[in-house]
This record gives sequence, structure tokens and C-alpha cells, in this order.
Amino acid sequence: MEKELKVIKEKCPKDHKCPAVKVCPVGALTQKNFEAPEVDLKKCIKCGKCSNFCPKKVLVLSF
Ligand code: SF4
Repeated sequence: MEKELKVIKEKCPKDHKCPAVKVCPVGALTQKNFEAPEVDLKKCIKCGKCSNFCPKKVLVLSF
């Protein structure tokens, strides 16, 4: 099975600009206002940079 990036939105405090959006090398993450970030799974290369970056563990690479 391929890994897939999941956004665990319930864990996101939704009160700040998501720092992980800038970390993504392919621009797969976007954020509307202070909402939890969204991932474009067609762009995501599953590098794990964002999941290592988010201190709240909202971005998780899992099978
Ligand atoms: S796993 Fe990598 S490519 Fe996918 S959204 Fe996170 S930083 Fe971007």
C-alpha cells in the first residue's frame, strides 16, 4: 500500500498561519484563513517534510 498524507483537522488549533505550507517543496498544501491546511494529493510526493514540521501532528503520513 502507498503512503498517504492525512490531515487530522481536529488536532489543528486553527488559530495561526500554518508554517508547514511553506515547507512543502511541491506546493501541495494550502490554507484558507486560519483553517486547518488542505493537501492536494495529486501534487503530494509523500516526502514527509510537513509531517515532521507540524508540532501538533496534524499532518501524518500513514498507510
Ligand atoms: S508530504 Fe511532502 S509533498 Fe506531501 S504535502 Fe507534505 S511536504 Fe508536501
